[in-house]
Amino acid sequence: MAGISRPRGTEDLLPEPLARLKRVLAAGLQVAAAHGYRQIETPIFESTDLFVRGVGEATDVVTREMYTFPDRGGRSLTLRPEGTAPVVRAFWESPLRQEPLPVRVSYAGPMFRYDRPGKGRYRQFHQFGVEVLGESEPEVDAEVIGLAWRWLERLGISGTSLQLNSLGDRECRPTYRAALLEFFEPQMAALPELDRERLRRNPLRVLDSKELADDGLLDRAPRTIDYLCSECRAAFDRVQEALSALGIPFAVNHRLVRGLDYYARTAFEVWHQELAGAQNALFGGGRYDGLSELLGYPPLPGVGFAAGLERVAMISAPAPEPGRPEVAVLSAPPADSKAAVALADRLRRAGLSVLLDAGARGLRGKLSFAERSGVRLALILGESELRARTVTIRRMAGRTQESLPLEGVEGRIRELLSSAELAEEGAS
Ligand code: AMP
Repeated sequence: MAGISRPRGTEDLLPEPLARLKRVLAAGLQVAAAHGYRQIETPIFESTDLFVRGVGEATDVVTREMYTFPDRGGRSLTLRPEGTAPVVRAFWESPLRQEPLPVRVSYAGPMFRYDRPGKGRYRQFHQFGVEVLGESEPEVDAEVIGLAWRWLERLGISGTSLQLNSLGDRECRPTYRAALLEFFEPQMAALPELDRERLRRNPLRVLDSKELADDGLLDRAPRTIDYLCSECRAAFDRVQEALSALGIPFAVNHRLVRGLDYYARTAFEVWHQELAGAQNALFGGGRYDGLSELLGYPPLPGVGFAAGLERVAMISAPAPEPGRPEVAVLSAPPADSKAAVALADRLRRAGLSVLLDAGARGLRGKLSFAERSGVRLALILGESELRARTVTIRRMAGRTQESLPLEGVEGRIRELLSSAELAEEGAS
């Protein structure tokens, strides 16, 4: 077909995948609420500067992946690639800033990155995330990780592993960075161009270089945790102790660095065994104590995570589709269709999902459509039913029928829908 196709890297969310995404998100919001996090929403586009400053000029996201455009007033706007910088901005621009600290919020919505599309990687995708603003105690780092972990548990997802690292802070990171550069200096000429570029612009990123992944070099490279100042060391210990108290297993991963510049101390990712390679992160997060100042606001420590909903949905169980009708109400011409219209309305108001077919075509065609729609019961109203004030109930699976008084038929329908007999017939 020669129609206009959807932009590369985008998806149309059809009923089942959408139902799954929503169920995954609803579970996340519930677990967040149980931890005292309130949901907020920020705009889908922001001033480009927010991300240039907040994410960092030297990051892949800012240099290569942003959807940036001038609006009609000549302002440079960007479709948000992530949610943390917007949440920090929203905090300072709203009454949230007058609330007692820490402020705990959750958010969800579409994010946009001009990434190379692939399995689990899109140009428009959805994130669910939480942020704790105004608290530097390391126990909240563990709280955020614990919240994420309980969310996956509630969804029945296993096969995940928590990867943990500490990136140090303003005090100790410069020493670490210098050690890293010193280590790579003699190898510089032999390194792939991309890694030389990383070392120039954002040296820590070399640690998660895909190009060097199989090279023994990275295993010998200096490790952040050997360069932590005493405060960062103590904080890292406390995060680990709190995780142990929660009974959450973790692996310290020396190569874990986050792509975004504003992180300090705790960094973490949750990986899943079924998601291969670069797409194995279900979510990532960490502490970003320097972000608020980078955005031009007063200092404000923070910690949070963002999860890719498509990736979490991909490994979660299928969800029932809301709006997939269970029952069809069919008028059988030449009988008048008003009774069918009224019955469908009555059943819907009683909470059932009902497909109505009250048109002029014959019953046979209606039954065949109802069957293909996947309904489990068809209620037929023909002339003899109207005369006797009854309705014929047809079980689609076994094609058996019974006749019942119209009055109070809701009860029998519910019984039939929940009966094992029907489910078994349906499964056979
Ligand atoms: P990040 O903000 O890069 O740490 O990403 C957090 C999470 O968002 C990742 O772990 C993924 O689950 C998800 N994510 C990031 N980029 C994409 C993408 N292009 N497509 C789908 N999900 C993504």
